[in-house]
Amino acid sequence: MIIQCKSLAKEIREKAKREARGEKLMLHNIVVGEDESSLVYAKSNLKLLRKMGFDGVIHHLKYATEKQVLELIENLNSDPNVHGIMVNFPLPRNIDAMKVREAISPVKDVDGISPVNYGKLLLGKEVLTPNTPRAVIRILENVTELRGKDVLIINRTPVVGKPLSLMLLNRDATPTITHSKTRNLEEKTKNADIVVVAVGRPGFLKAHMVHDDAIVIDVGINVVDGKIVGDADFEAIERKAKITPVPGGVGTVTNACLIENLVKAAKLQGVIP
Ligand code: NAP
Repeated sequence: MIIQCKSLAKEIREKAKREARGEKLMLHNIVVGEDESSLVYAKSNLKLLRKMGFDGVIHHLKYATEKQVLELIENLNSDPNVHGIMVNFPLPRNIDAMKVREAISPVKDVDGISPVNYGKLLLGKEVLTPNTPRAVIRILENVTELRGKDVLIINRTPVVGKPLSLMLLNRDATPTITHSKTRNLEEKTKNADIVVVAVGRPGFLKAHMVHDDAIVIDVGINVVDGKIVGDADFEAIERKAKITPVPGGVGTVTNACLIENLVKAAKLQGVIP
């Protein structure tokens, strides 16, 4: 009952590559501070870009003022050789995340984090949308019909839960968002057709919390004894419901979705037809 995601990721990447029509697109990735996982993520994206014939630059600013970050974004916005800009979160406390979101040109915003792209999503128009929730949607659409389904999301962040709920509404599903202050979570997960978990705690979602034949999308990424694991009790859930693996699940499709957005951004800029 494992939901295979690697072939879907490959499909998304290959379509993006075809649509790029040989153009060597450039993604600039900004990492501020010492967050090790952001740097690992940026490096793995760069590797994937190069493997696909694109390229990228990682701007690792160990110490930077807000002004320096905003100036860098401004320079990248006006550089025609830059097709996508990605800023890794969390940002250090001295930098106002909202100002950073506002600074990124909406047509280069490959992670869909600018207020303009968020606003469009809220109004039902998906232009450049955040990659992780879009990856969740792509996986779900590959295995089920979303219309009318009850989808329980355990996460309310702007990275996962909020945009995902909007994307689900756009597809006639019925999303419910839960978070750390939600009461009786188990009752809610048990009644859902689909459960999306993104808490950041290994083993958080137990088998008794989901009904037989449910679909579980595990967004979590945790390191336990040097191994990457998700948020769900994978072995127990896999025996009764459909579930995405970690690694090789949502993360793999998210990386492909980033490439897809880079190509989309290049189209918006008129670089490719
Ligand atoms: P986060 O900012 O820590 O958010 C965690 C969410 O879980 C919050 O909404 C929090 O509620 C909720 N939560 C925490 N404890 C809970 C509980 N006991 N019951 C119900 N809800 C609870 O993390 P994030 O950045 O959104 O990421 C979440 C996970 O997804 C992490 O493991 C991260 O590594 C992973 N992730 C994966 C990808 C991917 O592409 N695969 C991308 C991004 C993130 P409150 O809002 O009330 O605090």
